[in-house]
Amino acid sequence: MKNKVAFQTLGCKLNFSETSTIGNQFAENDFHVVDFKDKADVYVLNTCSVTETAEKECRQIIRRALRQNPKAYIIVTGCYAQLRPEEIANIDGVDAVLGSSEKFNLFSILNNFEKQELACIYVNPIEETTHFGIAHSTDSDSRTRAFLKIQDGCDYNCSFCTIPLARGSSRSLTANSVIEQFRSLVNHGYKEIILTGVNVGDYGKNINSSLFELVSQLINIEGEFRIRISSVEPNLITGDLLQLISKSDKMCNHLHIPLQSGSPKILKSMQRRYTTNDYKNLIFKAKKVIPDLSVGVDVIVGFPSETEADFIQTHNFLRDLPVSYLHVFTYSERPDTTAINLPSPVEVSERKRRNNILRTLSEKKKKQFYSEIDDTIQQVLFEHSNNNGMMQGYTSNYIKVKAEFNEYFTNKLTPFIIEGTDSDVCSGKILSEKMQLT
Ligand code: SF4
Repeated sequence: MKNKVAFQTLGCKLNFSETSTIGNQFAENDFHVVDFKDKADVYVLNTCSVTETAEKECRQIIRRALRQNPKAYIIVTGCYAQLRPEEIANIDGVDAVLGSSEKFNLFSILNNFEKQELACIYVNPIEETTHFGIAHSTDSDSRTRAFLKIQDGCDYNCSFCTIPLARGSSRSLTANSVIEQFRSLVNHGYKEIILTGVNVGDYGKNINSSLFELVSQLINIEGEFRIRISSVEPNLITGDLLQLISKSDKMCNHLHIPLQSGSPKILKSMQRRYTTNDYKNLIFKAKKVIPDLSVGVDVIVGFPSETEADFIQTHNFLRDLPVSYLHVFTYSERPDTTAINLPSPVEVSERKRRNNILRTLSEKKKKQFYSEIDDTIQQVLFEHSNNNGMMQGYTSNYIKVKAEFNEYFTNKLTPFIIEGTDSDVCSGKILSEKMQLT
């Protein structure tokens, strides 16, 4: 009988795509992948350093795994493992801690999965990392959308962020490798491919290329697909890229552009590489070039020395911009960052209050965007699941849509007229000859 392995991933899409790659290594070594809730011989936990309660979460997950099988071999990897290997090795039940690059060579590092008394740590300093761990993964529906990692690491030094410490400096997969993987995903039937990385807009920096050049090549690949870009720093969105998104129907009309704060004072203290004016001009320019563009925004509340006036400035800045939704993060102190030493921390309860206020604003923004899209025709990619006779999918500009389940339209880019908007999901009609016949 085959050995069984189970995975648990915390954090971002990039982590999910990397877990998927580790999963393939196990499959190639004759392991059977099972659900984390099931009994396995090996459990792998891919961690994130952004989670406020990383250590607590790790302990809980490991305890859960050991309840399933007290003899299971426990491997912990990912950003948190890279940053705090000793802390993790001291958690009861952990057998191996692997750093950010070691996780891609798991089978050459660990030659058996026999439990020992002490945990082994295999973590190289991240400054020595030039390695690019190739990864792609699929969403839970798993047959319509795939995430393709094109870039890793970051050379910026935002004062609140531990990612450069955990993942090292910026590096890109060569255009030829991206094209090869992209083709393979298209040939396997994926209709939406999401380009991911830590700082995707930085793609190509050290290989004499750019995100614009890469995407220009990808849209010429044969086949039915569309491309979504996961998130791009505002200072890296070029006019060329906006024109390309506007002109090519292979590109999703969707950009996720982190702002972090609408207060110039706080933005400076965060060591971000743009001003609020740059950001505002970019959003208006992008909406002019691509009128139905959906813009998602990351914002952090409760950064040290953020006064009520600074917060209101952020709120009003976002309120007056044509953006579609917000991802609101509550600032939390991280060891080894510049921000942890900044004066005037904001009370935790106040951070939470500000978070709630911006979440309410996000709902309003979303409603507003949905109502602007009402009565327009959008291309929808419907997923395979049949939920009580209904199927759901996303438009190019990231609106969730539902319709009566019809197998014929799943995993196809289908024209759809939006007829009703509600805060979370839109309804309407599929526009297709096939529909009229059924
Ligand atoms: S751009 Fe800033 S926030 Fe984003 S990964 Fe790099 S350092 Fe972190």
